[in-house]
Amino acid sequence: MRNLLELKDIGYSYHSLHGETKAIENISFGVGVGEFVAVVGPSGCGKSTLLSIIAGLLAPEQGTITVNNPDGSLRYPRVGYMLQRDHLFEWRSVYKNVVLGLEINHMMTEERLEYVNQLLRDYGLDVFRNKRPSELSGGMKQRAALIRTLALNPELLLLDEPFSALDYQTRLMVSADICHLIRATGKTMIIITHDLAEAISLADRVIVLSGRPARIKRDLPIHLTLSGDDSLAARNAPEFNQYFNTLWEALTSEDQ
Ligand code: ADP
Ligand code: MG
Repeated sequence: MRNLLELKDIGYSYHSLHGETKAIENISFGVGVGEFVAVVGPSGCGKSTLLSIIAGLLAPEQGTITVNNPDGSLRYPRVGYMLQRDHLFEWRSVYKNVVLGLEINHMMTEERLEYVNQLLRDYGLDVFRNKRPSELSGGMKQRAALIRTLALNPELLLLDEPFSALDYQTRLMVSADICHLIRATGKTMIIITHDLAEAISLADRVIVLSGRPARIKRDLPIHLTLSGDDSLAARNAPEFNQYFNTLWEALTSEDQ
Protein backbone atom coordinates (compact mmCIF):
# COMPACT_ATOMS: atom_id res chain seq x y z
CA MET A 1 0.00 0.00 0.00
CA ARG A 2 1.25 3.45 -0.91
CA ASN A 3 1.58 5.86 2.00
CA LEU A 4 -0.37 9.06 1.58
CA LEU A 5 1.45 10.65 4.51
CA GLU A 6 4.74 9.86 6.15
CA LEU A 7 5.41 11.42 9.54
CA LYS A 8 9.04 11.44 10.60
CA ASP A 9 10.28 12.32 14.10
CA ILE A 10 7.51 14.83 14.75
CA GLY A 11 7.91 16.86 17.93
CA TYR A 12 5.98 19.79 19.37
CA SER A 13 6.05 21.88 22.57
CA TYR A 14 3.70 24.59 23.79
CA HIS A 15 5.45 27.68 25.11
CA SER A 16 3.99 29.99 27.71
CA LEU A 17 5.16 32.44 30.36
CA HIS A 18 5.39 29.50 32.77
CA GLY A 19 7.70 27.58 30.52
CA GLU A 20 7.55 24.81 28.02
CA THR A 21 5.12 21.91 27.77
CA LYS A 22 6.46 19.16 25.58
CA ALA A 23 3.36 17.64 24.00
CA ILE A 24 4.71 15.12 21.50
CA GLU A 25 8.11 13.66 20.75
CA ASN A 26 9.66 11.48 18.03
CA ILE A 27 6.41 10.46 16.37
CA SER A 28 6.95 8.52 13.15
CA PHE A 29 4.38 6.58 11.18
CA GLY A 30 2.93 6.31 7.71
CA VAL A 31 -0.71 6.37 6.66
CA GLY A 32 -1.69 4.41 3.56
CA VAL A 33 -4.19 5.61 0.96
CA GLY A 34 -7.64 4.51 2.12
CA GLU A 35 -6.29 3.26 5.43
CA PHE A 36 -8.14 3.72 8.76
CA VAL A 37 -5.73 4.47 11.58
CA ALA A 38 -6.90 4.79 15.19
CA VAL A 39 -4.79 6.65 17.75
CA VAL A 40 -5.31 5.93 21.44
CA GLY A 41 -3.53 7.31 24.48
CA PRO A 42 -4.09 8.70 27.95
CA SER A 43 -6.01 11.94 28.37
CA GLY A 44 -3.81 15.02 27.88
CA CYS A 45 -0.98 13.06 26.26
CA GLY A 46 -0.91 15.07 23.02
CA LYS A 47 -3.40 13.35 20.70
CA SER A 48 -5.19 16.51 19.60
CA THR A 49 -1.85 18.25 19.16
CA LEU A 50 -0.74 15.48 16.82
CA LEU A 51 -3.97 15.73 14.85
CA SER A 52 -3.67 19.51 14.59
CA ILE A 53 -0.19 19.06 13.15
CA ILE A 54 -1.44 16.54 10.60
CA ALA A 55 -4.29 18.93 9.77
CA GLY A 56 -1.75 21.68 9.15
CA LEU A 57 -3.17 23.86 11.93
CA LEU A 58 0.10 23.69 13.87
CA ALA A 59 3.56 23.54 12.32
CA PRO A 60 5.74 20.78 13.82
CA GLU A 61 8.78 22.05 15.72
CA GLN A 62 10.75 18.96 14.87
CA GLY A 63 10.40 16.48 12.07
CA THR A 64 8.70 16.40 8.72
CA ILE A 65 5.52 15.23 7.06
CA THR A 66 5.99 13.95 3.53
CA VAL A 67 3.09 13.66 1.10
CA ASN A 68 2.78 11.00 -1.56
CA ASN A 69 -0.48 11.47 -3.45
CA PRO A 70 -1.90 8.68 -5.61
CA ASP A 71 -1.66 11.07 -8.59
CA GLY A 72 2.02 11.71 -7.86
CA SER A 73 1.50 15.40 -7.01
CA LEU A 74 3.14 16.97 -3.97
CA ARG A 75 0.26 19.13 -2.76
CA TYR A 76 -1.04 18.45 0.75
CA PRO A 77 -4.22 16.36 0.71
CA ARG A 78 -7.48 18.19 1.37
CA VAL A 79 -8.29 17.66 5.02
CA GLY A 80 -11.69 17.24 6.69
CA TYR A 81 -11.73 17.70 10.45
CA MET A 82 -14.48 16.43 12.74
CA LEU A 83 -14.56 17.15 16.43
CA GLN A 84 -16.09 15.71 19.56
CA ARG A 85 -19.15 17.92 19.44
CA ASP A 86 -21.06 18.18 16.21
CA HIS A 87 -20.86 22.01 16.28
CA LEU A 88 -24.08 22.47 14.36
CA PHE A 89 -25.59 25.94 14.58
CA GLU A 90 -29.05 25.95 16.09
CA TRP A 91 -30.09 29.11 14.23
CA ARG A 92 -29.50 27.41 10.89
CA SER A 93 -31.54 24.60 9.35
CA VAL A 94 -29.90 21.21 8.84
CA TYR A 95 -29.41 22.04 5.17
CA LYS A 96 -27.89 25.45 5.95
CA ASN A 97 -25.56 23.70 8.38
CA VAL A 98 -24.29 21.08 5.97
CA VAL A 99 -23.51 23.65 3.27
CA LEU A 100 -21.75 25.96 5.74
CA GLY A 101 -18.24 24.85 4.75
CA LEU A 102 -19.03 25.35 1.08
CA GLU A 103 -20.47 28.79 1.82
CA ILE A 104 -17.43 29.91 3.79
CA ASN A 105 -15.06 28.63 1.11
CA HIS A 106 -17.08 30.12 -1.75
CA MET A 107 -17.62 26.69 -3.21
CA MET A 108 -21.41 26.71 -3.61
CA THR A 109 -21.24 25.20 -7.08
CA GLU A 110 -24.02 23.17 -8.63
CA GLU A 111 -21.83 20.08 -8.55
CA ARG A 112 -20.97 20.42 -4.84
CA LEU A 113 -24.60 21.11 -3.88
CA GLU A 114 -25.76 18.07 -5.85
CA TYR A 115 -23.22 16.00 -3.92
CA VAL A 116 -24.56 17.36 -0.62
CA ASN A 117 -28.11 16.54 -1.68
CA GLN A 118 -26.99 13.05 -2.61
CA LEU A 119 -25.40 12.59 0.82
CA LEU A 120 -28.53 13.91 2.55
CA ARG A 121 -30.58 11.33 0.65
CA ASP A 122 -28.07 8.50 1.21
CA TYR A 123 -27.80 9.24 4.93
CA GLY A 124 -31.57 9.51 5.44
CA LEU A 125 -31.47 13.20 6.34
CA ASP A 126 -33.23 14.60 3.31
CA VAL A 127 -36.59 14.76 5.08
CA PHE A 128 -34.96 16.70 7.94
CA ARG A 129 -33.27 19.30 5.77
CA ASN A 130 -35.47 22.16 6.98
CA LYS A 131 -35.43 21.13 10.65
CA ARG A 132 -33.25 22.65 13.34
CA PRO A 133 -30.35 20.56 14.76
CA SER A 134 -32.15 20.20 18.13
CA GLU A 135 -34.89 18.24 16.36
CA LEU A 136 -32.39 15.54 15.34
CA SER A 137 -31.18 12.57 17.38
CA GLY A 138 -27.53 12.45 18.46
CA GLY A 139 -26.70 10.02 15.68
CA MET A 140 -28.38 12.15 13.04
CA LYS A 141 -26.48 15.21 14.22
CA GLN A 142 -23.19 13.34 13.79
CA ARG A 143 -24.32 12.31 10.32
CA ALA A 144 -25.10 15.94 9.50
CA ALA A 145 -21.66 16.94 10.80
CA LEU A 146 -20.13 14.24 8.59
CA ILE A 147 -21.99 15.50 5.52
CA ARG A 148 -20.73 19.02 6.22
CA THR A 149 -17.19 17.62 6.39
CA LEU A 150 -17.54 15.46 3.27
CA ALA A 151 -19.13 18.32 1.29
CA LEU A 152 -15.66 19.81 0.80
CA ASN A 153 -14.51 16.50 -0.69
CA PRO A 154 -11.57 15.92 1.69
CA GLU A 155 -9.06 13.21 0.85
CA LEU A 156 -7.98 12.79 4.45
CA LEU A 157 -10.48 12.71 7.32
CA LEU A 158 -9.29 13.55 10.81
CA LEU A 159 -11.70 12.68 13.60
CA ASP A 160 -10.92 13.85 17.13
CA GLU A 161 -12.97 11.73 19.54
CA PRO A 162 -16.04 12.30 17.36
CA PHE A 163 -18.37 10.02 19.31
CA SER A 164 -17.43 10.75 22.90
CA ALA A 165 -20.38 13.10 23.49
CA LEU A 166 -22.82 10.28 22.74
CA ASP A 167 -24.20 7.80 25.27
CA TYR A 168 -22.77 4.27 25.06
CA GLN A 169 -25.52 2.62 23.03
CA THR A 170 -25.86 5.46 20.55
CA ARG A 171 -22.11 5.56 20.30
CA LEU A 172 -21.87 1.89 19.29
CA MET A 173 -24.42 2.39 16.54
CA VAL A 174 -23.18 5.77 15.33
CA SER A 175 -19.48 4.88 15.26
CA ALA A 176 -20.21 1.71 13.26
CA ASP A 177 -22.53 3.66 10.99
CA ILE A 178 -20.24 6.63 10.34
CA CYS A 179 -17.19 4.49 9.72
CA HIS A 180 -19.16 2.29 7.35
CA LEU A 181 -20.18 5.42 5.44
CA ILE A 182 -16.62 6.73 5.32
CA ARG A 183 -15.25 3.37 4.14
CA ALA A 184 -17.71 3.47 1.27
CA THR A 185 -16.08 6.73 0.12
CA GLY A 186 -12.59 5.17 0.03
CA LYS A 187 -11.11 8.07 2.00
CA THR A 188 -8.15 7.88 4.33
CA MET A 189 -8.99 8.35 8.00
CA ILE A 190 -7.20 9.01 11.25
CA ILE A 191 -9.45 8.74 14.28
CA ILE A 192 -8.61 9.56 17.87
CA THR A 193 -10.52 7.66 20.49
CA HIS A 194 -9.95 6.61 24.07
CA ASP A 195 -12.15 3.55 23.56
CA LEU A 196 -9.93 0.54 22.76
CA ALA A 197 -12.85 -1.61 21.59
CA GLU A 198 -13.94 1.15 19.24
CA ALA A 199 -10.40 1.44 17.87
CA ILE A 200 -10.09 -2.32 17.25
CA SER A 201 -13.50 -2.64 15.64
CA LEU A 202 -13.11 0.36 13.32
CA ALA A 203 -9.49 0.63 12.33
CA ASP A 204 -6.96 -1.21 10.18
CA ARG A 205 -4.25 -0.21 12.62
CA VAL A 206 -4.11 1.06 16.18
CA ILE A 207 -1.34 3.34 17.40
CA VAL A 208 -0.89 3.54 21.17
CA LEU A 209 0.68 6.70 22.55
CA SER A 210 2.47 7.09 25.87
CA GLY A 211 1.67 9.71 28.49
CA ARG A 212 2.87 13.26 27.75
CA PRO A 213 5.06 13.88 25.86
CA ALA A 214 3.36 11.41 23.55
CA ARG A 215 5.62 8.84 21.94
CA ILE A 216 4.52 5.75 20.04
CA LYS A 217 4.39 2.71 22.31
CA ARG A 218 2.77 0.32 19.90
CA ASP A 219 1.69 0.33 16.26
CA LEU A 220 -0.53 -2.71 15.79
CA PRO A 221 -2.16 -3.85 12.53
CA ILE A 222 -5.64 -5.30 13.08
CA HIS A 223 -6.94 -8.24 11.09
CA LEU A 224 -10.32 -9.50 12.21
CA THR A 225 -11.77 -12.56 10.51
CA LEU A 226 -15.31 -11.42 11.25
CA SER A 227 -15.06 -7.79 10.36
CA GLY A 228 -16.15 -7.48 6.75
CA ASP A 229 -17.78 -4.12 6.80
CA ASP A 230 -19.64 -4.44 10.05
CA SER A 231 -17.79 -3.04 13.02
CA LEU A 232 -20.45 -4.21 15.48
CA ALA A 233 -19.93 -7.81 14.33
CA ALA A 234 -16.18 -7.19 14.49
CA ARG A 235 -16.46 -7.07 18.27
CA ASN A 236 -17.37 -10.76 18.23
CA ALA A 237 -14.38 -11.79 16.14
CA PRO A 238 -12.30 -14.53 17.84
CA GLU A 239 -9.13 -12.36 17.74
CA PHE A 240 -10.83 -9.38 19.36
CA ASN A 241 -9.90 -10.16 22.97
CA GLN A 242 -6.28 -10.85 22.09
CA TYR A 243 -5.99 -7.44 20.40
CA PHE A 244 -7.72 -5.81 23.33
CA ASN A 245 -5.31 -7.37 25.82
CA THR A 246 -2.25 -6.48 23.74
CA LEU A 247 -3.33 -2.86 23.40
CA TRP A 248 -4.39 -2.61 27.03
CA GLU A 249 -0.98 -3.85 28.08
CA ALA A 250 0.73 -1.30 25.84
CA LEU A 251 -1.51 1.48 27.15
CA THR A 252 -0.97 0.70 30.82
CA SER A 253 2.68 -0.41 30.79
CA GLU A 254 5.17 1.96 32.46
CA ASP A 255 6.47 4.71 30.17
CA GLN A 256 10.22 4.48 29.84
P1 ADP B 1 -5.07 15.11 24.30
O1 ADP B 1 -5.78 15.47 23.06
O2 ADP B 1 -4.29 13.84 24.20
O3 ADP B 1 -5.95 15.08 25.50
P2 ADP B 1 -3.68 17.65 23.85
O4 ADP B 1 -2.93 17.44 22.58
O5 ADP B 1 -4.92 18.44 23.78
O6 ADP B 1 -3.94 16.24 24.57
O7 ADP B 1 -2.71 18.36 24.89
C1 ADP B 1 -1.43 17.83 25.23
C2 ADP B 1 -0.82 18.67 26.31
O8 ADP B 1 -0.53 19.97 25.83
C3 ADP B 1 -1.72 18.84 27.51
O9 ADP B 1 -0.93 18.74 28.67
C4 ADP B 1 -2.27 20.24 27.38
O10 ADP B 1 -2.49 20.82 28.63
C5 ADP B 1 -1.17 20.95 26.62
N1 ADP B 1 -1.77 21.96 25.72
C6 ADP B 1 -2.70 21.73 24.77
N2 ADP B 1 -2.99 22.87 24.10
C7 ADP B 1 -2.22 23.84 24.66
C8 ADP B 1 -2.06 25.25 24.40
N3 ADP B 1 -2.73 25.87 23.43
N4 ADP B 1 -1.17 25.93 25.19
C9 ADP B 1 -0.48 25.29 26.16
N5 ADP B 1 -0.57 23.99 26.43
C10 ADP B 1 -1.44 23.25 25.70
MG1 MG C 1 -7.82 15.88 22.73
